Amino acid sequence: MTLELSGLSKSFNGQTAVDQIDLNVPTGSMYGFLGGNGAGKTTTFRMILGLLQPSEGHITYNGEKIDYNVTNQIGYLPEERGLHPKLKVDEQIRYLGQLKGMSKQDADRRLDEWLERFEVPENRTKRIEKLSKGNQQKIQLIASIIHDPKLIILDEPFSGLDPVNVEILKSAVKELNSRGATIIFSTHRMEHVEELCESMCILNKGRQVVSGRIDEIRKDFGQKEIIIEGE
Ligand code: ATP
Repeated sequence: MTLELSGLSKSFNGQTAVDQIDLNVPTGSMYGFLGGNGAGKTTTFRMILGLLQPSEGHITYNGEKIDYNVTNQIGYLPEERGLHPKLKVDEQIRYLGQLKGMSKQDADRRLDEWLERFEVPENRTKRIEKLSKGNQQKIQLIASIIHDPKLIILDEPFSGLDPVNVEILKSAVKELNSRGATIIFSTHRMEHVEELCESMCILNKGRQVVSGRIDEIRKDFGQKEIIIEGE
């Protein structure tokens, strides 16, 4: 079963941002969206999430239209991030957990598991604005998966982080995938996709340049380096 995008397009005021995208993301896989600035990655994610209405085309998940009333289906880490700087970590996560229908105890328990996993249990009662960028991004990831979603969409989860934190975040994403979640993430960097994903697509100016299994794409591209502008 898959997440399937068929002929998916989006225009803003007559300008095409996403142009006829057709993709299959197999359940349980890790899928990379590679593309530079303005390629259409965020717009595509926002359509999958039901935050934007497609101009054309449709999206199915396991053969059916996504029911956005089932709040625990999808987890989302937005590119613009979304934590409240003045809240303490536990307050923020409880609040988000409760929006997803979780009890305070369940949200606390999962927060503690992840803080232990990241080896930063002391951050539980710190204000988000007091944390380093890397630690804020760990909390952002926890926020997006607190309700244990089966489909996780991460918009540029590794951007703006130092190499050590990129590795920590990658390892957490791998673990979520190995526990059974389907993960889609966007990036400007081919090396992230090659390390983590089985399948990928490359978007450029809203168009799908290439998509499919990475080993097959590699055969087509040969040893040519795939370079995406910008970061
Ligand atoms: P980046 O890596 O810079 O985040 P992206 O691949 O996520 O880029 P999008 O944010 O999806 O790209 O943008 C695709 C195009 O759609 C861009 O030209 C952008 O200016 C345009 N766009 C996105 N959202 C809107 C909007 N709400 N109104 C008008 N134009 C928009």
